[in-house]
Amino acid sequence: MADNDTCPRCNSDRLIHDAKVEDRSKNGRHKLEVLVGFNDPDALLFTDPIRAELRATICGSCGWVGLFVREPGILWDAFTKAPDQGPPE
Ligand SMILES: [Zn+2]
Repeated sequence: MADNDTCPRCNSDRLIHDAKVEDRSKNGRHKLEVLVGFNDPDALLFTDPIRAELRATICGSCGWVGLFVREPGILWDAFTKAPDQGPPE
């Protein structure tokens, strides 16, 4: 859920909350995610990053879109445990 009830760009209250964000290709549709907390490459065990589904708030007046995740605390915890790691090439 978004906290604000008005658009940060145009101040309209015509906001569409919690919209799904998907990519669509000939192979089908899949939701978009952010990935945080990649493992130390020197670690013995490779652990997967924490994933979170992107959701969107859309302004029905000016078209502004804001992306967010539902449980940011989980991502923050993963980030603070592996702050210097980037995604694998
Ligand atoms: Zn707007």
